Amino acid sequence: MTDVQALVVGAGPTGLTLAGELALRGISCRVLEQRAEESNLTRAFGVHARTLEQLDMRGLADPLVGQGIQVGEIRPTFGWSSVRLPMRHPESRFPFVLIVPQARTEALLAQHVKALGVPVERGSMVIDVRDDDRGVTVTIEGRDGVRTERADYVIGCDGAHSRVRRSMGVGFSGSTYDTSILLADLRLADADTMAVRTYLGRDGVVLMPPFGDGWVRAVIWDRRRQHVPLDEPLGIDEVTESLNRLAGHDLGVREMRWSTRFRNQRRQADAYRKGRVFLAGDAAHVHSPLGALGMNTGIQDAMNLGWKIAAAIHGHAAPWLLDSYHTERHPVGTAALRLTDLLQRISIAPPPVRAVRPFLARGALAIPAISDTLRRRVAGLSIAYPPRDPRHAHDWEGGRVPDARLSTGRLYEALHHGRFLLVRRAGANTADTTGWDGRVDSAETADPTFPALTLVRPDGYAAWAGDDPGSARTAITQWCGPARHPSTPV
Ligand SMILES: Cc1cc2nc3c(=O)[nH]c(=O)nc-3n(C[C@H](O)[C@H](O)[C@H](O)COP(=O)(O)OP(=O)(O)OC[C@H]3O[C@@H](n4cnc5c(N)ncnc54)[C@H](O)[C@@H]3O)c2cc1C
Repeated sequence: MTDVQALVVGAGPTGLTLAGELALRGISCRVLEQRAEESNLTRAFGVHARTLEQLDMRGLADPLVGQGIQVGEIRPTFGWSSVRLPMRHPESRFPFVLIVPQARTEALLAQHVKALGVPVERGSMVIDVRDDDRGVTVTIEGRDGVRTERADYVIGCDGAHSRVRRSMGVGFSGSTYDTSILLADLRLADADTMAVRTYLGRDGVVLMPPFGDGWVRAVIWDRRRQHVPLDEPLGIDEVTESLNRLAGHDLGVREMRWSTRFRNQRRQADAYRKGRVFLAGDAAHVHSPLGALGMNTGIQDAMNLGWKIAAAIHGHAAPWLLDSYHTERHPVGTAALRLTDLLQRISIAPPPVRAVRPFLARGALAIPAISDTLRRRVAGLSIAYPPRDPRHAHDWEGGRVPDARLSTGRLYEALHHGRFLLVRRAGANTADTTGWDGRVDSAETADPTFPALTLVRPDGYAAWAGDDPGSARTAITQWCGPARHPSTPV
């Protein structure tokens, strides 16, 4: 007998998203967070289109969009010239990168889990996790000393130094960059603090997203300062000198309220699942902040995993479903590591590459296929999962389902309850979903690009597509478990 069905370790963006996904399906869960107070440290600023789409599937995107700045293109400046990567995604309701401090994204997610009744237990540090056939024993150091608790499943969303990952004995393969970054919150003389500035100088890179209240965050990779010990204080003079040199002109730094040195890593957990224990977010993958993929990937991990654990707890999950979390998300994490590593290498390239960098970048981005591929990769819009049976799979299987108009509203709105959705194209034969109530909803679209029938997963990817109602019922059984007999209770 366990005390709780699921314990989520860590109340960062990944843990909060995951707790919301579990609670939405009636799973009893708690979030354990070592920090006594809510964090006001902002690391991430960029929220990409696919993350916004997935938040939209739970009704959370519009309130976040309302708090941020919409940026339609990324424009790195190489000294005297700049290149443009358009982020005006024609295929999405969110044709921009949303610039919003991570603390606001976390506050919104915290509000959501609170509304769903999930307790976030602050001041509770997980110090050990042991799993067996019947559950997981978690050792927690809290305000009243050390205690143990039993849970059916534990998800480590406890960041890069994850204690859960170490308790599982899972390796974190990769390396630490030998370059350290300077981070500083600044006020500039220039009042135009709503744009995201990017400078690629001879000696490194500067990214300056705005907080929206007159302050900007400076993220600085400075070749000349990269080996300064991490514990050496970082003052306004050093920050100003670095910034002006990399930007090539005086940026007018007036005030600094916070600063630190930070060393990047490039690492990924060898396994995202071990028995009843899972890893998600930075606990599973860490990489350079260039590309703004860390928090985005973590939130999307949680959207992939939550409904699968809930299905296992409700007894509806096929044996492969929990393993599919690693199969689907580990390659996405690897791709994020590769892309951010490439961006980092280009940004701090040695002199011969530096000289040709603007020409190469402009030339490459002028080719629509390259620019489009990069745009979709950074935004997460090209993420797709391997189909269950590649030999007989419809082209749509595993892919992102667009937010089509349904007879009752938008498709992503129809996913607000976090259930599967069987979408029938108008005029096509339907499949009877009796016996799957509470697990599968039905909808109709007049969109002619849709297959006759599409089984949409709760995270917005196509589980199955085709035109045969019998095959649709087989797919529903595989993904959602057997239909309930009319006399069995829900
Ligand atoms: C400079 C910088 C800029 C970035 N910019 C972006 C960006 O623009 N876009 C983007 O997507 N990403 C960005 N990132 C990355 C992003 O900040 C992280 O990927 C994100 O915070 C990961 O979220 P998480 O919930 O997985 O982990 P975290 O945010 O690290 O949260 C983990 C939580 O677990 C708690 N915890 C840890 N150990 C325990 C324990 N043993 N017991 C209980 N609780 C524990 C911690 O206190 C913490 O609250 C940036 C990172 C940096 C450094």
